[in-house]
Amino acid sequence: MKKMYETRKRLFIILMAFSLLTLVLIFLFAWWLVSKQYLIINQIILTLALVFFILLFIFIAVGLFFLVYSLWSLNIIKGSNIFIKNAIDFLFPMALKLGKLLGINDEKIKNSYIQVSNQLVRLQQPQISPDKILVLAPHCLQRVQCPHKITVNVNNCRCCGQCPIGDLLTLCREKGTQLVVATGGTFARKFIKEKNPEAIVAIACERDLTSGIQDVDKVPVIGVVNERPEGPCFNTKVNLCQVERSINFFLKGGDC
Ligand code: SF4
Repeated sequence: MKKMYETRKRLFIILMAFSLLTLVLIFLFAWWLVSKQYLIINQIILTLALVFFILLFIFIAVGLFFLVYSLWSLNIIKGSNIFIKNAIDFLFPMALKLGKLLGINDEKIKNSYIQVSNQLVRLQQPQISPDKILVLAPHCLQRVQCPHKITVNVNNCRCCGQCPIGDLLTLCREKGTQLVVATGGTFARKFIKEKNPEAIVAIACERDLTSGIQDVDKVPVIGVVNERPEGPCFNTKVNLCQVERSINFFLKGGDC
């Protein structure tokens, strides 16, 4: 067992060392290109690199433009999704780091990202049948003292009213949508694979919703941030009206 752990640690250290080596080689190569600019081959490589970066920046700028335009005009241009998604994927990690440097709360930035993502989904106006909508709830909504195994089967909930799971179950039964309770990202991904939904209403904290929305790029996801009156991951709550509105949106039934 000890040997296995050592091999795992070694793998990470080796990969880190190779990453550093790669960065050093890239730097040396760039330095060689710039310092020997009189060589024709170097001029060609530098020109190609310049063209590549210009195209990349244009691609991202177009994505950002489409994003701002969509949010401002409440209208999404057909085919612009790919530009928007790539711009977000590219710029979001940097935006998070920049926010941290400026002292902006990580949660606040992620919450803002979720609102933007929800708005973009709302602009697509998909029409989904109820059984193809999956409501994905986190395990921390369940009351800690509850003995029922709702992660195995949510129908094990007795709807006793002591936590939001019972109300969620009643709501999903009324609407005819699927409901699952996941204990983490791995199980959430497993449920999505198994259920194969066409739309997801995901309830979670900002951190889990952000990574989940980025993971699931083929299915529209509306994120509903949970409330944590007793702290994170413990007896959390959810605004049922927001969940119902999100389901109604996918069903095209209007607001609650
Ligand atoms: S509503 Fe369901 S999950 Fe929540 S405490 Fe009651 S039985 Fe348990």
